Amino acid sequence: MNCWHCNTEILWGGDHDIEDDEVFSMVTNLSCLKCGCHVEVYYPKENDVKEKSDIIKEVEGLAKSDTSALHEAEQSYGNSWKKRGGVGAYMMLARKWDRLEQQVQGFHWDVFKAIATDTREEGVLDDIGDLRRYLFLVEAEMRMRLKGDKQKPK
Ligand SMILES: [Zn+2]
Repeated sequence: MNCWHCNTEILWGGDHDIEDDEVFSMVTNLSCLKCGCHVEVYYPKENDVKEKSDIIKEVEGLAKSDTSALHEAEQSYGNSWKKRGGVGAYMMLARKWDRLEQQVQGFHWDVFKAIATDTREEGVLDDIGDLRRYLFLVEAEMRMRLKGDKQKPK
């Protein structure tokens, strides 16, 4: 970066975090040794990578454990989930949704209450997890197929 006034290369003096500013998170000091100009560059907060919130961290953990669970299930059941094609895959999703619907209905559709009240081993949360993992499989399967189609010469 060159000086606005004399076009000589300006030197970096240091970066400083800004504590209580709405818009900027950091200021960089630069100076021109030739004409003595001083330049401050303010860096916008919105460019900072924000730290993940607690719920997003929880989601991240779930996605990881889903991957392990699906890998393990594949060792035992192989690709049986897609043996009956797209209709079979859809019915598999629908069955999970039906179970969920049945369990939550009794709580006037309050899914939080249904989960909080649930004490069974294989309860509402298990059905939600199963549904989510099946959705992962269906989406991954189709994204792979669509990618494959694009790569095939026409
Ligand atoms: Zn200068």
